[in-house]
Amino acid sequence: MKHVVMYSGGSGSRNASRRVKIEHGAENTLLMFTDTLVEDRDTYRYMIESAAHLFDLPKPYHLIAFCEKIPDIRSDADIVVRKSVLPELARKTMKFMPQFYWMQDGRTPWEVFREKRWIGNSQVAQCSHQLKQELSKKWVESTFQPEEVTLYVGIDWTEIHRMESIVKHWKPYTVLAPMTEPPYQDKREMHRIDRDDGLRQQRLYEKGFSHANCGGFCVRGGQGHFINLLKQNRAYYLYNEAKELEMQEFLGRTDISILTRTVNREEQTLTLKQLREEWDAGLRQQIDIDDIGGCGCYVNYETA
Ligand code: SF4
Repeated sequence: MKHVVMYSGGSGSRNASRRVKIEHGAENTLLMFTDTLVEDRDTYRYMIESAAHLFDLPKPYHLIAFCEKIPDIRSDADIVVRKSVLPELARKTMKFMPQFYWMQDGRTPWEVFREKRWIGNSQVAQCSHQLKQELSKKWVESTFQPEEVTLYVGIDWTEIHRMESIVKHWKPYTVLAPMTEPPYQDKREMHRIDRDDGLRQQRLYEKGFSHANCGGFCVRGGQGHFINLLKQNRAYYLYNEAKELEMQEFLGRTDISILTRTVNREEQTLTLKQLREEWDAGLRQQIDIDDIGGCGCYVNYETA
């Protein structure tokens, strides 16, 4: 029996994999990562470093150094560079750790939206469906019979309500969520365990992001999430702001955007440009800073 952890680059799946290894042994544990090509450079580093630790391998300094070639995202030119660097990093990583299965569809979330003629939002996020869920399902189905494998997700005890749709999506495969079980640990505790294991925390957590997916961008995020992105990585915010406007122009529509806002009981679009201009103008009282939203690439299942 093999045990496959859906590895997202966050501390939830990293700590889930740690529990799986303790119970079933490193030799029976596999990691499965689906790459959107827009993860933060330091998330790739953390993921590789933590995976090597899981498999009792020496710290992969050559791979950690290779991560430095991944550019931050400021324009589409950076995406072009990433598309040449990341497949090479994936190959090198899988060579070093054959139990680490790193998949790439080859498209970014914005490229998926363009093909789908839609802008992802908290209700419909085709990016996660296309770049993560479908890819991982195809690999699992082509590699294992349901009785040969158990799958694991990194959600914790605060997110246990998400299990029902996860289990339904993966049937007839078995999916478990080790972090929903005792001993119950919150993110702070998971970070402490990382430190005890000699793993440097990734910079997105240090910058106050609640999850580490897509470099701190997520179409499932709320206003507060995007304000944090604006404060912590303005260049990447501006890139996504421009992509959203580009999509509106491409579709000839101004009635769709990642964020929405209810005004006088009417739902209105709220573009990233509008949000930034309001924030920069000091109109903070009309921004819902507590609206963090949630990301759940492996845990929110819908068809798209
Ligand atoms: S993290 Fe958000 S933007 Fe990225 S693939 Fe998942 S749902 Fe889409």
